[in-house]
Amino acid sequence: MRVALACALATTVNADVLPANDLPEDVAGQLELMREPPGSDGSLGLALGRPEADWTTLTESSPNFSFDRAAYWVRFRVHNPTEEAIRLIFDVAQPLQDYIDAWVLDATGSPIETWHTGDRRPTSQRPFLYRAFAFPFTVEPGQDITFIARFDTHDGLYDALPMQLVDQPTFFKQKDRESLWFGFYYGAIVILLLYNLVVGLVTRERDFLWYSLYLGCFLVWNLAFRGYLALGPLANAPVVNNMAVGFVGSSIFISLIVFTKRFLYLSERMPRTDLLMVVLAIMMVAPMALSLLDYYALVFSIEIPLALVIMMTVLWVGIYQSWKGYRAGKIYLLAWIFLIVAAFAYYGRVYSLVPSTWLTENALNIGSMIEILVLSLALADRISTFKQQRLDDQAYLIAREQEMNQELKQRVEEKTQAFKQLAERYEQESITDVLTGLRNRRTFDDIVSQTLRHRDRETPWMCLALIDLDHFKTFNDRYGHPAGDDVLEQLGYLLQGFFQRTDDFVFRLGGEEFGVVFRVDSPDAVTEMMDRFQIALADTESLASLAGAEPLTASIGVACVPAGGSMKPADLYSHADQLLYQCKEGGRNQYRVEVIDSPGVDARHLVSE
Ligand code: GH3
Ligand code: MG
Ligand code: MG
Repeated sequence: MRVALACALATTVNADVLPANDLPEDVAGQLELMREPPGSDGSLGLALGRPEADWTTLTESSPNFSFDRAAYWVRFRVHNPTEEAIRLIFDVAQPLQDYIDAWVLDATGSPIETWHTGDRRPTSQRPFLYRAFAFPFTVEPGQDITFIARFDTHDGLYDALPMQLVDQPTFFKQKDRESLWFGFYYGAIVILLLYNLVVGLVTRERDFLWYSLYLGCFLVWNLAFRGYLALGPLANAPVVNNMAVGFVGSSIFISLIVFTKRFLYLSERMPRTDLLMVVLAIMMVAPMALSLLDYYALVFSIEIPLALVIMMTVLWVGIYQSWKGYRAGKIYLLAWIFLIVAAFAYYGRVYSLVPSTWLTENALNIGSMIEILVLSLALADRISTFKQQRLDDQAYLIAREQEMNQELKQRVEEKTQAFKQLAERYEQESITDVLTGLRNRRTFDDIVSQTLRHRDRETPWMCLALIDLDHFKTFNDRYGHPAGDDVLEQLGYLLQGFFQRTDDFVFRLGGEEFGVVFRVDSPDAVTEMMDRFQIALADTESLASLAGAEPLTASIGVACVPAGGSMKPADLYSHADQLLYQCKEGGRNQYRVEVIDSPGVDARHLVSE
């Protein structure tokens, strides 16, 4: 049976036997592929028993069966023409392949090695700890072996299967270099994630936190997608690892939408696109939920088209806002263009449109790295914009405050001025008699005491005259109060005209009583003055005409003292008042002058005729 199988193998393999010491660089055209017919039990025996016609030459080194529920078989033969054993590795660099069963068969067709692995099986079942699946085997000198593997899926979705057959030193060198680059890549993402997170927490700018969440989702998804989660935390939870790819993949797009909405003020600037984004984000919840129910093919059949629409929308938002001239929009577009160019380079390589170089091979990583970096810078730039705005606002407020202070100061000054004028007017009014325009009683005491104190060599004598109209009550009674008022007004004019010197002060002390404070060089001048005043009073035509038949007369008491003496104002007043009283007693229409040289003593009394 075994021999028969071996014979069949030997004769039926279409592709050439590969020399173990001189392997082709690319497995394209070197491997054979068979799509397992439906109803097959998936056993090795059944596969080996299939007719040769079922096997075709695999033309690509990275076949992608995409959505397909069928299982696929791959096989190749290796011969070691040398004298030494050669250790080879068949590498399937696809960490997400659900099930892989692989065998190494000797020339007789008996299995030398058998593996049952895949990312839906515990990591411990892998040939060795590696983020994807690699099958090591030894080809002894002169030995002919057949490698055969079966690939199957959980519910009908394959990812590309990059395959290579290399010697072990080449493999480990490659993987070491790859690990180094992934280390740099993840290190950079972690640093940017921490940076944005810390800035977000410190500044309480929520954009940074949303961006951190986006980065966090991207990081976790990438670790799952690249097979690193299965090596560490989820080594014994292969189902959870598979759920994570769909779940976190959806979260990337939801957090991206929230970040974009906020970062580019979509609700204000593009309300309809904003609504579309919200709807897309809500739709993304469906694959998230389905992934938790362990659907896989279904999850991606929803998630991939949704993601494409989201990416187109996001691109459109960037283009629109750049076109409108928003700075953040331009940076955002720049970030996305890097990723899109990178994606084109990567997939162009897959479809052989661009040469497969180190750059195109790592294009997605480089593109996403630049995207993340540019967006981080954009966020940092926003902080400086905010700061500038705050400074501008502050400067504006300070300027405005100063302006207002100036205005306020000016207004206070104006008001103060107005109040001063008003106060002066009131003061003037309060010390002025309304009827005659003379000073009223209010300033009388002050002026008397000032004049009393003020010595002057030219006019050493200070006099106080109290003038009271005679029988004024009778006048009022006869001609009426308004006529009386006119008389008082006229008398005011007369007194003001008569006592005109700068140190003369005329008061209306109340009713029909007037007071005059004046200075003279000698008391002798006073009688002469009073005589003249009485004449002027009698001669005042207006007074005379007002008085009718009987002329108006006045009684006057005058007290004179040398200024600078010890006489008190009240005493001076009472002297003058007594003199006035004496005039009234003595028959009215007269004046009396008292010269008080030294108070109380030596007073000279002068009486008019
Ligand atoms: P005597 O000669 O004793 O001074 O008699 P008299 O009537 O002048 O004196 P008396 O003090 O008895 O009366 C003062 C009068 O002055 C009373 C009042 O009718 C009058 N009088 C006082 N103030 C005013 C005023 O503002 N206008 C007018 N029209 N009359 C006034
Ligand atoms: Mg009178
Ligand atoms: Mg009187």
